[in-house]
Amino acid sequence: MIRVGVNGYGTIGKRVADAIRAQPDMKLTGVAKTRPNYEAEAAVRKGYPLYAAIPERSDQFTDAGIDLAGEVEDLIIASDVIVDATPSGVGEANCELYETYDTPAILQGGESADAVDTSFVARANYDKAEGADIVRVVSCNTTGLSRLLAPLQEEYGVEKARVTLIRRGGDPGQVDRGPINDILPDPVTVPSHHGPDVKTIYPDVDIDTVGVKVPATLMHLHSVNVTLASQPTVAEVRQLLSDESRLFLVPEVAGIDGTGKLKEFAMDTGRPRGDLWENCIWDESIAVEGNDLYLFQSIHQEADVVPENIDAIRALTGRETQEDSMAITDDRLGVGL
Ligand code: NAD
Repeated sequence: MIRVGVNGYGTIGKRVADAIRAQPDMKLTGVAKTRPNYEAEAAVRKGYPLYAAIPERSDQFTDAGIDLAGEVEDLIIASDVIVDATPSGVGEANCELYETYDTPAILQGGESADAVDTSFVARANYDKAEGADIVRVVSCNTTGLSRLLAPLQEEYGVEKARVTLIRRGGDPGQVDRGPINDILPDPVTVPSHHGPDVKTIYPDVDIDTVGVKVPATLMHLHSVNVTLASQPTVAEVRQLLSDESRLFLVPEVAGIDGTGKLKEFAMDTGRPRGDLWENCIWDESIAVEGNDLYLFQSIHQEADVVPENIDAIRALTGRETQEDSMAITDDRLGVGL
């Protein structure tokens, strides 16, 4: 059993904690929180040992009637691996603590690639994480792009990728984010940082990205153009992509016209929190003009990195091959629509 602790129990951390609990070869040692809010209450109700992320605030938990299992350093000592899902910048600062206890850690996409031994997407570079002290599971958008580029690169070769990322303004719980009535070039400068981030996974891929932020909370939408080194048919591309467990081809017959119905479908099929762990590629959107492939894909920003964190835990500790780890993760979570 790999003993795993989660430091930072918010949007990503709570999903990763549930996913760890679902694995046959992992034990969730506990979760660390900064304050006794509703997420702390939910963690306790689920039976997760709760640790104070900021020791000076332990009393706040006691005052709120929430029992603590200890402080964050106790969680680190009790764990073989820590998944750090704290806000951007905090994870990097926490690394000193993980190093003190010689406990390897997995950071999230908000951290700098320079702060880690390797950036990670299971489908693309699983083996690079073995034996690393600090691994970064890349952002939701970079994960989605890398998963798509992986089979295209292997099967056809990628000459150039150009992607417009139409990004949700904030997650559903982020009431202070926006815009609420506008469309923002974000960043207004070209290219956006997403292309360089993909290069932390695929250094040799030529990719340019631009970003737009819109008043939406459910998912991101990518408008993708990839110039391939060969000229496959649409049917061949469809087959290639549908063979990938973490790519879901949204069938025309489903009548799913946007991210709202995608999320509705996820909830109707009993997905926890309505999570879509897969890239959702509209089947009808796949088009090939000469060497150019076009498609639309949606990325559920709160969910697609969750299976990647699970695979990163196994990759880092040298357990399981890429194929076996992904298969176990997918089976236990129910990935693959
Ligand atoms: P979040 O704000 O929802 O959750 C972060 C949690 O960490 C909060 O509960 C916060 O109270 C807690 N925290 C703050 N300081 C802490 C500390 N010192 N120690 C322990 N916990 C602390 O954030 P999130 O959306 O889950 O993002 C976490 C990371 O995941 C970031 O790097 C982010 O860029 C990345 N990420 C986010 C998304 C997304 O869309 N939400 C997608 C992919 C990756």
